Amino acid sequence: MKIAFHTLGCKVNQYETEALKGIFARKEHEIVGENDVADLYIINTCSVTSLADRKSRQYIRRMKKKNPEAIVLVTGCYSQTAPDEVAAIEGVDIVTGTNEKRNIPKYVDEFMSRRSNSSVSGIASILDIPDNSEPELHILRYEELETYEETGIITLPESRTRAYIKIQEGCDRFCSYCIIPYARGKSRSRSPISVINEAKALVEKGFKEIILTGINTALYGSEPDFEYKGDKRGIEIIISLINEIEGDFRIRLSSLEPTVINKDYVSGLFKYDKLCHHIHLSAQTGSDNILGQMNRKYSREDYLDIVRQLKAFDPHYGITTDIIAGFPGESDADFRDSLTLIDEVGFCKVHAFNYSKRPGTKAAEMKSHIAPAVKSKRTAELIKAGEQTAKLFFEGCIGTMRRVLIEEFDVAASCFIGYTDNYIKTYISDTKQYSSGEFVDVILTEIYKDGMRGE
Ligand code: SF4
Repeated sequence: MKIAFHTLGCKVNQYETEALKGIFARKEHEIVGENDVADLYIINTCSVTSLADRKSRQYIRRMKKKNPEAIVLVTGCYSQTAPDEVAAIEGVDIVTGTNEKRNIPKYVDEFMSRRSNSSVSGIASILDIPDNSEPELHILRYEELETYEETGIITLPESRTRAYIKIQEGCDRFCSYCIIPYARGKSRSRSPISVINEAKALVEKGFKEIILTGINTALYGSEPDFEYKGDKRGIEIIISLINEIEGDFRIRLSSLEPTVINKDYVSGLFKYDKLCHHIHLSAQTGSDNILGQMNRKYSREDYLDIVRQLKAFDPHYGITTDIIAGFPGESDADFRDSLTLIDEVGFCKVHAFNYSKRPGTKAAEMKSHIAPAVKSKRTAELIKAGEQTAKLFFEGCIGTMRRVLIEEFDVAASCFIGYTDNYIKTYISDTKQYSSGEFVDVILTEIYKDGMRGE
């Protein structure tokens, strides 16, 4: 069978699609491109914003048009949080939740055998026997999402330099604007053995950067009874084990939530020489008032404490973040707090978004929602402020030596590019031939395009 995939959303979704490709490939199915004509289309959806829902619906319709005879299976966060809405989209055959990836081949086989039987029922229809081609739903309630679904070692990673490893699933922090806990269930951790086996396999294959990802990665190992050979240090268990693997590679953390970590937590990470000096630390807002409304359990000062700890360890520690503009009730003063936080931290990248009302979340029920035009104006201001601090951060890095992992040759800039450990996109200014996956020590010389030049 020819199978095509389309994935929306985060690194976890992309990782799970790679895992699913591996599961089907091992069953000798042919994985084809998402624009190819296939017998089965699998859409791995996202529901983090209303825009993500809309895009998911668009792709479902687009794929069915490619081959109306094909089976269309929808999985992921949108199908978990709104299964009936997804099932109502014309052409959808199977809808599964976020914790069912391993069972998808079985559901497809069962569907196909029922379909072939019902072609017998074609005759049945002549005989007026009811047609049961309702979409098939395989959805557990989010409260039932209790186990970590092992999908085995990834076999077909896309790039050849960096690879993601999913180590954690779910989140139980219930930030008032977030739909994720209802899509992914409570936090569950993957077994350290399984993570280490995958890391070793990737290093053996020549990968140079391993990125640890999850829905709320910082919650790794937070289950009450979780321990590994008596070690209860959560994510540090994984980092310390991977740090011991022989080989010239580095470890990057995809994101850590300030709802979980604090300054003591980060100081524990400094002893791992393979760990990149970069952290994605979602602030979401700089206002204590709005942090409270968001049900995010830290203050602006707690956040700045973590930043001071990181900068004390390495003054050029790369910090990236997410900030929401226009959360219900956000006053001009609250918004100014987000702008001043950006200045005070000196982020190397700020991702700013309009608040998106998610039905089923507490914030959706809140009063004084902000007008879309005001939200967009504030998001634009946040992005501008982020670009200014990124420039200041880059300026501060001029003359420093960093290690760059070469990714590719940039034709437009006619030079090799890659990222430093502290997450600066670097354009290598000499004409030497490099290969993708090679580490190069460079002196950062000037701000250039969306990053810096390195010699
Ligand atoms: S920490 Fe908050 S924002 Fe992040 S996934 Fe959990 S509930 Fe959502």
